[in-house]
Amino acid sequence: MTSTLTPQVTHEADVVVNGLGPVGLMACILLGRKGYTVHAIERWHKPYGRPRAVTFDHEIARILSTLGIESDDDVSIDYHDDHYYWVNKDREILMEVDWISKESNGYRNRYWFSQPELEDRLRALVSTLPNVTLHNGREAVEFTQDEDGVSIVYREIKPDIFTVEFAEGGEIGRINARYAIGSDGANSFIRQSTGLELTDLGFDAQWLIVDTKPHEMPSYMTAHFQICDPARPTTVVPGGPGRRRWEFMSLPGEDLTRLGSEENVWKLLEEWGMTPETAVLERAAVTRFQGKYLENWRAGRAMLVGDAAHLMPPFAGEGMCAGLRDVFNLVWRLDLVLKGEASTHLLDEWSDERREQAKWYINFSIDLGNVICVTDEAAAAERDQRMFAEHAEQSKIGPIPTHEAVLGAGTWAGDDELAGKTAIQGRVAYRGRTGRFDDAVGRGWYLLSAVGAEGELSADRRARLHALGGEQLTVGPEGSGADVIDVEGVYTGWFAEHGISHLLTRPDYYVALTAEGHDQLSARFDRLMHSFEPVAA
Ligand SMILES: Cc1cc2nc3c(=O)[nH]c(=O)nc-3n(C[C@H](O)[C@H](O)[C@H](O)COP(=O)(O)OP(=O)(O)OC[C@H]3O[C@@H](n4cnc5c(N)ncnc54)[C@H](O)[C@@H]3O)c2cc1C
Repeated sequence: MTSTLTPQVTHEADVVVNGLGPVGLMACILLGRKGYTVHAIERWHKPYGRPRAVTFDHEIARILSTLGIESDDDVSIDYHDDHYYWVNKDREILMEVDWISKESNGYRNRYWFSQPELEDRLRALVSTLPNVTLHNGREAVEFTQDEDGVSIVYREIKPDIFTVEFAEGGEIGRINARYAIGSDGANSFIRQSTGLELTDLGFDAQWLIVDTKPHEMPSYMTAHFQICDPARPTTVVPGGPGRRRWEFMSLPGEDLTRLGSEENVWKLLEEWGMTPETAVLERAAVTRFQGKYLENWRAGRAMLVGDAAHLMPPFAGEGMCAGLRDVFNLVWRLDLVLKGEASTHLLDEWSDERREQAKWYINFSIDLGNVICVTDEAAAAERDQRMFAEHAEQSKIGPIPTHEAVLGAGTWAGDDELAGKTAIQGRVAYRGRTGRFDDAVGRGWYLLSAVGAEGELSADRRARLHALGGEQLTVGPEGSGADVIDVEGVYTGWFAEHGISHLLTRPDYYVALTAEGHDQLSARFDRLMHSFEPVAA
């Protein structure tokens, strides 16, 4: 692997991570905790606090709990017992989305936070891992790979600026690793170096994003709403504890510099009771919303994750969520591949699973955007009439439930309609501990079987499960003799509802398979194991 630059230092790693937004940081933590030597590169010397994500979903709450961040009672995360209302220019309700219910994994479907604060938390966790080294203020400038590994050359950036200017006489370094993770955002250097190209799904809009810290938290009709006003489509949402977020769409032909000026920001906030006397303006920026995705997320030994692999307008609040899912799904696979216990086929299945699910969220976000971003009065009036009628029908049953996308075909039983979706989680008692399953029992591969059905897993299959680091446990009510006591009946109820007696969950909390009886369990288990054919990495 030759370079036109002469590195002064060379580091050896298992994995090199390029880009330390939330997704790269999560990759560092997960790999670091598994004991791998990780070197990570980040262009800026200090965090670049752009106004970005403010909300994540129940799945991310479960993922963050693996890091000890408990969204239900964390000081920097909150939630609101309010639905999500979409209203027209006269504030009449067009749509009501259920943001109150809890999901089947025990978490709420929406939490609110500040992305820069979460990134600080993730950085603090990374700093506890001696096997993870961060190279801040360094930009990756060369990427090469061959059949044995990858190599990145980086250059030092001048301190205290947010433009790419290399420091004169600054450090030039090289990192050699077995695999690379490209978590370097929308303009990903790793993606460009590997020749992968994003497919554009055609959405393009510019919005002004405004984060405030009100001196007193205002109370509106609901905590979160979408105002479908053709005069200025607007999003009004929380921004985590102590903060409120506004998003204002730029109008056709509008001067973006004027739109984002401080004077104009306060003018737009006035009708919400936000003035320099009542709130601190934390940050404001005009941002481009787009919908793009990568077809193949693996280029040899490089994996593209987060915004490097998918971009979506933030109307569903799912961009960062998708990125965190990418790495949570990737790391258990990379672990098996690095240990030589599975072939890189497992990484291709990762790409297929993640692409299809991310695409679903991109299309969903674009569909929402197409409803919101209407600036023509007549088209807006027509939309309103259609949505009033739909809302009247929907109201008979209640607010619209939130949707959840299934994974693309991959490491789960394709003939099982319960698989490829996030797994349920209930409160359980296990070996003297009571709490959520993840806390009381653990996180990883678990085959939960109804009491009496455990023998339907043959000894050789149980051994295969153990080789994966998995375990079979029985689950049932108090007094049933089960290993895991189903305190609230969540598992027994779900088994009965779906007529199954086995549930196999993956380390990323997805259902790998469910089954009723020995034959179905054996057939689905054996097919699943094809994904893990052991081949040296
Ligand atoms: C206005 C707005 C609102 C949003 N709201 C939500 C929301 O509510 N919920 C949600 O889930 N998502 C939301 N998102 C999306 C979310 O913010 C992004 O999906 C998320 O930040 C992507 O994280 P990432 O780590 O993949 O990339 P980034 O955060 O972009 O990080 C990439 C990092 O790579 C570094 N880098 C780039 N090139 C190089 C290089 N050559 N060498 C070294 N380092 C490099 C960059 O400096 C950067 O730090 C929103 C986005 C916007 C713009």
